[in-house]
Amino acid sequence: MSETDIRDFTKSEVESKNEFEYKAEMKQLLHLIVHSLYTHPEVFLRELISNSSDALNKIRFRRLTDSNILDPDAELKINIDVDEKENTFSITDTGIGMTKDDLLSRIGTIASSGTLEFLKQMKENNKSIDANLIGQFGVGFYSVFMVTDEIIIETANAEPDSKSFLWKSIGENKFTIEEIDKKPRGTKISFKLKDEYKEFAQPWKVKSILKKYSNFVDFPVYVNGEKVNIVSALWHRKKEDIKDEELNDFYTFISNDSTPPMAHILLNIEGILNFKSLIFIPETAQPTLFQDALDKSLQLYSNRIFIQDNCKELLPDYLKFVKGVVDTEELPLNVSREVTQSSPVIAKIKNVLVSKILGLLEDWAENDKPKYEKFYNNFGSLLKTGINSDFTNKDRLIELLRFETSLKPKSEKVSLKDYVNRMADDQKEIYYIMGDHRDLIEMNPNLEYFRKNELEVLYLTDPVDVFTIPYIFEYNKKQLKSIEKADIDIKKENKTETSADESNKGLLNKFKEVLGDKVEDVIESNRLVDSAVTLVVGKQGFDPQVEKMMQYIDKNFTHSKRILEVNTTHNIIRNINSLFISNSNPELVSNTILQLYDGALLLEGKLASPNEFLKRMNEFIELSTK
Ligand code: ADP
Repeated sequence: MSETDIRDFTKSEVESKNEFEYKAEMKQLLHLIVHSLYTHPEVFLRELISNSSDALNKIRFRRLTDSNILDPDAELKINIDVDEKENTFSITDTGIGMTKDDLLSRIGTIASSGTLEFLKQMKENNKSIDANLIGQFGVGFYSVFMVTDEIIIETANAEPDSKSFLWKSIGENKFTIEEIDKKPRGTKISFKLKDEYKEFAQPWKVKSILKKYSNFVDFPVYVNGEKVNIVSALWHRKKEDIKDEELNDFYTFISNDSTPPMAHILLNIEGILNFKSLIFIPETAQPTLFQDALDKSLQLYSNRIFIQDNCKELLPDYLKFVKGVVDTEELPLNVSREVTQSSPVIAKIKNVLVSKILGLLEDWAENDKPKYEKFYNNFGSLLKTGINSDFTNKDRLIELLRFETSLKPKSEKVSLKDYVNRMADDQKEIYYIMGDHRDLIEMNPNLEYFRKNELEVLYLTDPVDVFTIPYIFEYNKKQLKSIEKADIDIKKENKTETSADESNKGLLNKFKEVLGDKVEDVIESNRLVDSAVTLVVGKQGFDPQVEKMMQYIDKNFTHSKRILEVNTTHNIIRNINSLFISNSNPELVSNTILQLYDGALLLEGKLASPNEFLKRMNEFIELSTK
């Protein structure tokens, strides 16, 4: 092993010492687990069973190709022993075991710093820690510290000449590792229960908790010598033979999410392609959804034998909220990660899964709108990212999009199909506007023309929209168009009073002179109704929201220049036009122009120097209160 394998400890420390201190983060995590309120303490049992089951899966997988291991013939099983009188609990497996390095790097260290941050937040919010979350964040082992003060791990790794070790926690800050006499292959974890948790030393209690999950463990589980589970791969059963409760329990078992799933899909595909699958759509988005290191994809099985956890090739990223298993006999049992990554079988399974999941969503979107809305609120942003990455399903994904819109209340989202069905015959384009949220969008002067003419405008308020919607280009032969662009098709005759263009020309030139190279151009506006001026994007420019994003990514990104549109029928503009023509107060004309321009910037959140703006405003106030 190289030094870097043991994240927190140097090589010489590892070789010479047997007492170790947890690093700061780990101490804090343990402190939280030991002292914070928590719910579901029984989760520790599921975590231990699940770790043992993982360790057994690993050795079974290795045994397929390698018989040179410690105790090659040992039965693959889990033993739980409890003693009511002594208040003790132990769990022993014949799995892959741990080396000293494993004990240091996997038990003594937190894999993800996001974990601690999250738990801290929970504490600050004064929430009790849900033990399920400890598991979701990849530190499930530590949930045991809810029910005990001291844990002992004895372990022998599968290498034939491996040494055996004893790991022991001391208080919240330290642990020791010492070599012990050779043990059989596997791991034993034992501890004395805190008084208030002595119920977990009662065999009936342990059995009743295990009943929920142990049937999904692919190895026999014994409690005080009595076998308690019937190994049964749920996905091999017929639909009608599976109870809802079993589905929910199985979902919780594989996802660590204690909320029952929103839906499941059970597949039994036979023919050219053969596989079975049981997948779930969660009811809520899990907090780890966007933490790549933690969120897990589907599990891969070959004829009931576990092959791989988190097989990312089975689903595209935009569906990574889906949890479950895929079981196929078309792969060799000892298939490696590299092979699954390029396997045509996996690619075909993926296509079927995607199609089935989209089919279910389409069904909700059509026939169960509240359900689809709930789904969309949770996972819509992720789903959208498929538009840029999954060209095969792009059209189906576009149909599944939902937007806020100017014609409906915030709670009512619409599809592009709804929009097009409502379009007047002479409307040629689908209009949208992007912004952080509805209230801000509705203050945008660029909406005025559309509001007045009752033209529907989609409100794109999801940050992901910036990366997806502009790439749709058209839907049903109608172009998608940002109403913030200068080249939008706006009918001039909609202006009630056609002002004498000529008489404004001078003023527009004055605007150009005063603003200089701050703007690309100054033109007369056809779109404004209530506002005096607005900024729009030139043909080549990006939408303001897109620019905001670009700037976020690239600090050196410079904004493209905007076009200032002037509403020549507005009173302010009329007033300054008179002032301009009479040349009676050139300074006031210039200041008003600057003020109008800054005001438009302010509305977009782009005003760089509020000082100037305020100074001018105070001058105007002084003038009008004279
Ligand atoms: P996770 O299971 O999510 O990785 P845990 O904190 O539960 O997180 O476990 C940390 C690691 O400790 C496991 O990934 C595994 O490598 C090791 N481990 C825990 N229990 C066992 C066991 N019974 N046998 C072998 N390794 C184990």
